[in-house]
Amino acid sequence: MSDSITILTPDDNKPMIPISSKQEEDEDDDTSLLPNLTTHSCSSSSSHSHSKPTVIFISLILTTCIALSAAFAFAFAFLFFSASSDSTTQVSRSLKTLKTPVVLLISFDGFRFGYQFKTNAPNINRLIKNGTEAELGLIPVFPTLTFPNHYSIVTGLYPAYHGIINNFFTDPETGDFFTMANHEPKWWLGEPLWETVVNHGLKASTYFWPGSEVKKGSWNCAKDYCMLYNSTVPFEERVDTVLKYFDLPSDEIPSFMTLYFEDPDHQGHKVGPDDPQITEAVARVDKMLGRLIRGLEERAVFEDVNIILVGDHGMVGTCDKKLIFLDDLTNWIEIPKEWVQSYSPLLAIHPPSNYSPKEIVAKMNEGLKSGKVNNGEYLRVYLKEELPSRLHYSASDRIPPIIGLIEEGFKVEQKRSQRQECGGAHGYDNALFSMRTIFVAHGPQFARGRKIPSFENVEIYNLVTNILNIHGAPNNGTVLFPEGVLLPRR
Ligand SMILES: [Zn+2]
Repeated sequence: MSDSITILTPDDNKPMIPISSKQEEDEDDDTSLLPNLTTHSCSSSSSHSHSKPTVIFISLILTTCIALSAAFAFAFAFLFFSASSDSTTQVSRSLKTLKTPVVLLISFDGFRFGYQFKTNAPNINRLIKNGTEAELGLIPVFPTLTFPNHYSIVTGLYPAYHGIINNFFTDPETGDFFTMANHEPKWWLGEPLWETVVNHGLKASTYFWPGSEVKKGSWNCAKDYCMLYNSTVPFEERVDTVLKYFDLPSDEIPSFMTLYFEDPDHQGHKVGPDDPQITEAVARVDKMLGRLIRGLEERAVFEDVNIILVGDHGMVGTCDKKLIFLDDLTNWIEIPKEWVQSYSPLLAIHPPSNYSPKEIVAKMNEGLKSGKVNNGEYLRVYLKEELPSRLHYSASDRIPPIIGLIEEGFKVEQKRSQRQECGGAHGYDNALFSMRTIFVAHGPQFARGRKIPSFENVEIYNLVTNILNIHGAPNNGTVLFPEGVLLPRR
């Protein structure tokens, strides 16, 4: 959770559902400990007797307490001020051409934070310069994979609550297998933004987004407003189709639109994040953004549209020397491949019910820590309930009982092979900087040239419903987050 959320948000504004998530966040909330520590050290000093040295001691303690309190107050004021100085002097700009607010949510898949510095990206930079940017990037949810993250962005829920806990998984109750091509509503929990928007009588359109083809509530994935995924559709065509929505009569223009690009994820996997091919892919998606901006300008709506540009996760280089093989653990425990739901970077193991997950975890960790397993120190295995609570990755039956956390850039495979490959991967711990992506927002409700601290992508749902002035579904985002980021309404 970002600094700004911790500081700007009282506990009673934490998400109402699910309860477990709120508890987890409270436990993890490092900064919330600071005032408690201060209070504790200050109040304990008052129980001393009032002898002269004690008075001096108390004075010293009091002085220290006052100084500490002042320092905290200053730090708070500084952080609050730096996070909100623009919004105190600016209000949202009024619409010139459009009649009602429009949010256009764009995703550059696998756009690692920092890619924007790799090459000249005039259009991304234009949005940054005239909009609001998460200065050190957007924090994805765990696991840092495409489907779980895209669906967290549009539902405001962690994967354990929206149900898409991996790109592929088996439902332990039914034995049914989920793949990325599956559009049955039973898999896709929560309420995505397009559903919320149409439930409020507004229009929504999706030019690709995980979950968008699933018919839920009032959202029926209508032709012309809901594009069926086809990776071969040229990027230009996607941009031009979105632009055409702005040629419709004003009451038919979707209030919420998505636009998705597979790049630069594709190149990142192939060659890793530091290859010149990435630079080319970044330039290409930037060009698409330029095409979009030009089209919006021609229609005199560029300044009216709230553009939210995000990625789903980052990317890190992987290479053949950074491998861990499950078969190397056979002296401690045998892990047959049938137990393994996914290997890397999320190791997920579902043993048959007559095995004890706890014993398996203990034996695996014993082997990994023994010093006799190649790269064993770079994998730690957990019962899902014992994973760090900041990952929010236990409260779903769909999550297999045993989860392995793999160190940045390492990969787990079943057995040794001659295959040698170097490329890129994502899916690791969302606390890793390499997994961060971008957040840039531009439009009438975003301050110009403003930098905000990093935050988790589950906050975006509330941001969008706030801009559209509609009541969102309960989620894991922070209720006060939009207030800290958006310009106040004029
Ligand atoms: Zn990917």
